[in-house]
Amino acid sequence: MSLLNLSPSSCVRALSVNSICTHCSDVCPVGAISITGRLPSINQSQCVGCAGCVAVCPTEALQLDDFNPTDFFFSFVSDEENLVSCQKNVPCIAALSSEQLIAFAQMKEGVILDIGHCGQCEIGEKTLSVMMKTIDNSNYLLEAIQSPYTIQTKDIAYIDLKVPEEKADRRDFFKNFHLRGIGKARSNFEKEIQRTTDEFVQYTTNSTHTQALRTKKITDRRKLFFTALKRFEVPSEFHVVQSDKITFTSQKLLDEELCTACQMCYRVCPTGALTSDMRNSKIDFDPFLCVKCHLCHDVCEPNAITLSTSYNLKEWYVPSVQNLARFAVRRCDECDGLFSSVAGEKICRRCRLEEEEARELWGL
Ligand code: SF4
Ligand code: SF4
Ligand code: SF4
Repeated sequence: MSLLNLSPSSCVRALSVNSICTHCSDVCPVGAISITGRLPSINQSQCVGCAGCVAVCPTEALQLDDFNPTDFFFSFVSDEENLVSCQKNVPCIAALSSEQLIAFAQMKEGVILDIGHCGQCEIGEKTLSVMMKTIDNSNYLLEAIQSPYTIQTKDIAYIDLKVPEEKADRRDFFKNFHLRGIGKARSNFEKEIQRTTDEFVQYTTNSTHTQALRTKKITDRRKLFFTALKRFEVPSEFHVVQSDKITFTSQKLLDEELCTACQMCYRVCPTGALTSDMRNSKIDFDPFLCVKCHLCHDVCEPNAITLSTSYNLKEWYVPSVQNLARFAVRRCDECDGLFSSVAGEKICRRCRLEEEEARELWGL
């Protein structure tokens, strides 16, 4: 029995009203996540704790209280077993992202995902199709980096005969009220109370989140991914792959003719993949840090940023910071403040907007 939590300051929707991220609600097989307001809301009584949403959230804003993918990574790679099963060590095989699967395959030979329970599982139909796509993409990328390993799926239907009571779900948690299981039952009971009290949890951000919203964060899974890649030799040649096969990072193109130097993209980027300098005279992009959250596209009013259709895997081994745009920096004729001028303008964006507003309101 799990409780799902959202860290509001890590959700990209908190960073801009223009964010259209709905990955978590799209993937949830039981409709436990809804996005009707600014941030996702979680219906705790509907959530079955599969962690599918945890796997697809680009910024690791969602966490289950009893499954941490990073802790699982370390315990799994140090374990002799190579089987990943919902009846053994993960809440559902959909709890693992493509980035994590590639890291697993690099750290451990012969990783097998057990799909033997999916046919009987109430969420199996939906999660299996999502997972098979994730596995296909992961194997495509493993082949492209000349990895000797792949992720395999097998119809094993693993059953842990030693500790069947560990797998009790919320429907039968009252059965745990015997002396031996009293500690576990008590913790489950407290969670059940919390579930019914906070059945529908709506999240908001407030002033206590301001600092966290400004902080650029590298996800744990990105750190593990690059650690795992370093274990192997750099491929003899770098392949350029289709970018739609990579769900967790991207290459960007920026149309300097369309860009208005509004600064929005690099100010909202949650990881620091997009940056500028103190004078706001340029936009740089570091694919190593990009988590493909799409926020920079969502906030770009003139649609100056686009996704490249290809991705050079050299970025995974020889990361480079690419310059996407350069601006002339000059003083505004109206307010005397410094601003980034893209087409020889003499007044800054704020003064221009004020002038436009005055013209509209008073015909000045
Ligand atoms: S853990 Fe699974 S069931 Fe719960 S909200 Fe996430 S995707 Fe839905
Ligand atoms: S997937 Fe993550 S970032 Fe996107 S809306 Fe859900 S919680 Fe927010
Ligand atoms: S560069 Fe864009 S897509 Fe990549 S992490 Fe930053 S905001 Fe998200």
